[in-house]
Amino acid sequence: MKKKAVGSRHSAFRFILSAILYALSAILLFSGCQKQDRLFKKERNLMHTFVTITVVSNSEKEAEKAIDAGFDEIKRLEGLLNYFSPESELSAINRAAGKSPVKVSPSTLDAIRKALYISGITGGAFDPAIGPVIKLWKFSEPDTEHVIPSKDVIANALKVIDYKKIKINEAASEIYLEAEGMELDLGGIAKGYAADKAIDVIKAKGIKAALVAIAGDIRGYGLKPDGEAWRVGVQNPRPKYDKEPPSLKKGGEGESPDEILTSLYLADKAISTSGDYERFFTKEGKRYHHIIDPRTGYPSDSKLISVSVIAPHGYVSDGISTGIFVLGAQKGIALLEFMGLDGIMVDSDMKVYLTRGLKGKVEIPAGFR
Ligand code: AMP
Ligand code: MG
Repeated sequence: MKKKAVGSRHSAFRFILSAILYALSAILLFSGCQKQDRLFKKERNLMHTFVTITVVSNSEKEAEKAIDAGFDEIKRLEGLLNYFSPESELSAINRAAGKSPVKVSPSTLDAIRKALYISGITGGAFDPAIGPVIKLWKFSEPDTEHVIPSKDVIANALKVIDYKKIKINEAASEIYLEAEGMELDLGGIAKGYAADKAIDVIKAKGIKAALVAIAGDIRGYGLKPDGEAWRVGVQNPRPKYDKEPPSLKKGGEGESPDEILTSLYLADKAISTSGDYERFFTKEGKRYHHIIDPRTGYPSDSKLISVSVIAPHGYVSDGISTGIFVLGAQKGIALLEFMGLDGIMVDSDMKVYLTRGLKGKVEIPAGFR
């Protein structure tokens, strides 16, 4: 009896031991088989530009799913916020200007709320009600024979450019433009906003690191498989060969050193660049670009030709970089430093302005001052 009991205890012990060894070897085997984290990248044309999404994952299938979900989110937002599409909620708001409030989805309400926040902090230099003036300049029609709008036509359009006349009814989820003829244009903030939202969707899929680049509006989070933060390039506003499209549009990797002003690490942050080289035409040697001073209705003459802003969110970096383009270097640097943000600006004398946080940290090539 006694002997048997000892024997059964023995075999129970052996059983537990072999179970532990089995479990350990299974864990070792599994971790040995587990794939390494890798980068997965896809490109698409959305929001009238080049979009790339890069994610870190150990599974191609999971990576693909997350990237596609990110693109779907950008497409969904484009559908709501596109100035040029009659089906967008933005167009419905514009058509009802001065007539009635329009019920909109939470995303549209949120994007407009955030645009108004940027208007507030830039003192109206960023104004999403800029639509009627933008329309006159036809920057979105590259093949057209550009004509400088007459002073009278601009003065007339300016009468309805006022972000304070954009009313949000949070409870009813409604937007109302108080004056007839008003038109919202979110072109200065929508890409950064969409990059934020795409990142949210990708994060929700369990992805540990990603980079979403919608032209010059780039938002990253997490670290690459090599443990480094994402590295992104800031476009040289005046590369020697000015004819090629900026490679920053392809996600921040330059094809020539001359194409890049500088590059920096982007950990859990967004960077946006506004430049006078993005959309412009020249008449009698003068460049007319797409960032309009809401006080004059003419392309901003702040002397800045490029403004990059780094912020925790894309809607902030995008909106503020457009606003600072109008405000100019001094006010721009002061605003960024007041807000605890960083930025790089270049003026028409190729003088580079850096916020305190970037001084000594970024390399500026010869040819800039
Ligand atoms: P970005 O490239 O982000 O600076 O955006 C430029 C776009 O923003 C233009 O193509 C216009 O659609 C719009 N925009 C131009 N000037 C302004 C302004 N002062 N405030 C807000 N949006 C603007
Ligand atoms: Mg912008």
